[in-house]
Amino acid sequence: MTQASSIAPEIPYVGRFAPTPSGPLHFGSLVAALASYLDAKAHKGLWLMRIEDIDPPREQPGASDTILQALEAFELFWDGKVMYQSQQNERYQDQVDQLIQAGLAYPCQCSRKQLKEYTVYPNSCRKNPPPADAECAIRLKTEGIFSIEDRIQGHCQWPMEQVGDFIIQRRDKLFAYQLAVVLDDQEQRINQVVRGYDILESTPRQLQLLKHLNLTPPTYAHIPVIVQANGQKLSKQNLAPAINSKEKHQLLLRALAALQIFPEREIQACAYSDILRWSVDQWDPSRLAMKQEIPEADLL
Ligand code: GLU
Repeated sequence: MTQASSIAPEIPYVGRFAPTPSGPLHFGSLVAALASYLDAKAHKGLWLMRIEDIDPPREQPGASDTILQALEAFELFWDGKVMYQSQQNERYQDQVDQLIQAGLAYPCQCSRKQLKEYTVYPNSCRKNPPPADAECAIRLKTEGIFSIEDRIQGHCQWPMEQVGDFIIQRRDKLFAYQLAVVLDDQEQRINQVVRGYDILESTPRQLQLLKHLNLTPPTYAHIPVIVQANGQKLSKQNLAPAINSKEKHQLLLRALAALQIFPEREIQACAYSDILRWSVDQWDPSRLAMKQEIPEADLL
């Protein structure tokens, strides 16, 4: 039995792709989109779309549309309407207020400079609350040990004293990714998260939030990330080039190779849509077991 088929068949599968519009779709994000798409299709599930545009200073004007157009050009069609995080502020604020009222989150006025020498927040403002009129960020209290059985990375476990209390709303009032991702996965009823290995370290924070909010965690599969020759992840911050839909046939074959799917010559010669349809039945995340990185150069 493949790991893909180990998901309980009676629970309708709801997955998603949730790009941050800080740049156009690059090859690394194409692989992530394709993996979550194939996993959803292989389980006859829904594949929803969410644009994570909660951090305007990090965004590139027009990137949301460019990403969506690229996904359509690659025939990765999503179900339902696109959710935009920039339109969810009221819901986020309600939850932050409730967490504070429940004593699970607290104001913090520590500056980045004050915390420079710490890898884990030293709980200064948890112990000594700042004055009521101070300009503050909001931190979530963390406690205990969280673990998941990741469908690709296996058993992962995090003692929260190594993670520390973390920010859910910044001093400038913008909401943190950790908060928005958890609330929106719940809002969209996502029960399967397939995303890059680089986000694995965020998972304990998301599990802590889910616990404080009495919500059920999704199942996770963290796929390996594509790395360049210098070992750096292909990412928008590293200015990875946009993918060109004119090369979509070749790029699909490369993205499939990254996911350990290798069509034979006669399949390679088929039309793009046929290869994409064929690959749904070939998807087997157990082939990626424990892999964290895939060098881009191996895929040429
Ligand atoms: N928005 C994140 C990104 O573009 C993905 C978040 C997630 O999948 O949880 O890297």
